Amino acid sequence: MLPSDLEPRLRTLVTVFLAENAKINLSAFRTEEQCWIGNVLDSLAALDLPQVTSATKILDVGTGGGFPLLPLALTLPRAQLTGLDSVQKKVEAVGRIAYEMQLTNVRVVAGRAEEYGHNPEYREQFDIVTSRAVAELNVLLEYTSPFVKPGGIVLLWKSMNMEQELRDSLLARAELSCHLTGQHPYELPGDWGKRQLLIFTKAGKLSDKYPRDVGVPGKKPLK
Ligand code: SAM
Repeated sequence: MLPSDLEPRLRTLVTVFLAENAKINLSAFRTEEQCWIGNVLDSLAALDLPQVTSATKILDVGTGGGFPLLPLALTLPRAQLTGLDSVQKKVEAVGRIAYEMQLTNVRVVAGRAEEYGHNPEYREQFDIVTSRAVAELNVLLEYTSPFVKPGGIVLLWKSMNMEQELRDSLLARAELSCHLTGQHPYELPGDWGKRQLLIFTKAGKLSDKYPRDVGVPGKKPLK
């Protein structure tokens, strides 16, 4: 999971991140160990997937303090990564961290997924769209799928116990042409336990009616 030659840079990322986190609240993980395992190693689970290591354009929706965006940018220098979040001060903090880490392959934008999803510079432009800890599946697929090129993937960080959420996402998956094509379980060290990546492949172009207006996917999830 962890490319060992990059460990010193990834450790520096933790230090830089925690310094920002002390100024504005980006993450509940406040110690080096929590941030290392819960943010960095968790983000890097995606490197197990060949689709990720070969991707050239990646968008992270609801990037918050920059996870999985920043560890992926550091380990995938040939890819261009964009982080999107609705909270301006978080986006600015992630920009400062990327600058300090000299991550020239990262850009960050402030805005809602429901708005950016209709912007032609973003719509159906990305090989992979990632998202961690943002919303339930039926909502999250409406936030993420508009950005994915047909044939590309939506990659979601989720816990192991997903049966109900998966059942509740059947209509969203059909409407948004997202087929569940993989579930990748992984284990974090110590008592952090097992988690999984859900992989959805976007089968075709999306109807212009998605995403719906700001707030609607969350208030009236497709189900
Ligand atoms: N992905 C990060 C992580 O795992 O540490 C942050 C997770 S945080 C719990 C959820 C983030 O999603 C927040 O920063 C929030 O502002 C953002 N978010 C929620 N809904 C959004 C939307 N519709 N468009 C853009 N960002 C959104």
